[in-house]
Amino acid sequence: MQETDFVNMELNEVVIKKISPILPQRSDLHLYMLRLDALHPIVSGNKLFKLKYYLEQALQSTHRTLLTFGGAYSNHLAATAYAAREAGLRSIACVRGEEGRKPSHTLDFCRSQQMEIHFMERELYRQISETPHEDFLTSRFGPHITIPSGGFGVMGARGARDIADFIPENSFSHICVAVGTATTLAGLLMAGRKEKIIAFPALKGMTDIPERLRKLTVQNTIQPEVMQDYSFGGFGKWNMDLISYMNRFYKVNNIPLDFVYNAKMMFGITDLIRKGFFPPGSHILAIHTGGLQGNDSLPANLLAF
Ligand SMILES: *Cc1c(COP(=O)(O)O)cnc(C)c1O
Repeated sequence: MQETDFVNMELNEVVIKKISPILPQRSDLHLYMLRLDALHPIVSGNKLFKLKYYLEQALQSTHRTLLTFGGAYSNHLAATAYAAREAGLRSIACVRGEEGRKPSHTLDFCRSQQMEIHFMERELYRQISETPHEDFLTSRFGPHITIPSGGFGVMGARGARDIADFIPENSFSHICVAVGTATTLAGLLMAGRKEKIIAFPALKGMTDIPERLRKLTVQNTIQPEVMQDYSFGGFGKWNMDLISYMNRFYKVNNIPLDFVYNAKMMFGITDLIRKGFFPPGSHILAIHTGGLQGNDSLPANLLAF
């Protein structure tokens, strides 16, 4: 097993578990899950990997300040707030929109980690988070290191590449991963693995993955297979089919999924198995990227966990 100890945070061991896709069992297919969600009880999953090099850079700076962007339910903001505090760094968040009457549980958590929250009008937010205007940001917030929205950057992808170190070679035929900004996906591709990489976008009709990968400096020659049919209507959208899938998956495997990313990926894998997509003898590894804090935004009592 690889070292999971960065910025002195105490992290749990990452394990690979055999799982059941909750179908009539097929003895010719083998399904496994890389439990990045189990890394840490508060901040789990892929986000810590994406943050790694930004944290290191901030630790070496004199201002020791990180600035980033996100929505009111962003896993990325929660992870940044927590990791920054652990590392003894100051953190600032530009948040899209206005503060609602009741702050989101995510922003409550971020504030509890001493993150400074600044709301930004949507149009300004869009412009600034897409291409950070450093002069503007520095004049407003002082010197800092900017983490692009969702950790979408070359340094984020380099950090995500380390996820591949947890996956033993020559053990799996396919690696499946959920996609938001495609940074985690880019990291996996950068690792240059032989397994077929299958991507499950959490956004509807995400056609710009090749362009995103190019920006993250992934070579053109390696491309994932992208499954567009499992976004459930768009980012953060859900229906009762998805919820009941999550509950059944939990009952069978004792593993909680988040509704924004991993439930959609697992639903997709299950559907692809049903449709005969995976050849007999496949060893499929699904990466559980965590994100369970996002489930707190669902109505109470929907989930059995
Ligand atoms: C952010 C996130 C993703 C998407 O990762 P990207 O690197 O942005 O593609 C997947 N799963 C979870 C749980 C996340 O929080």
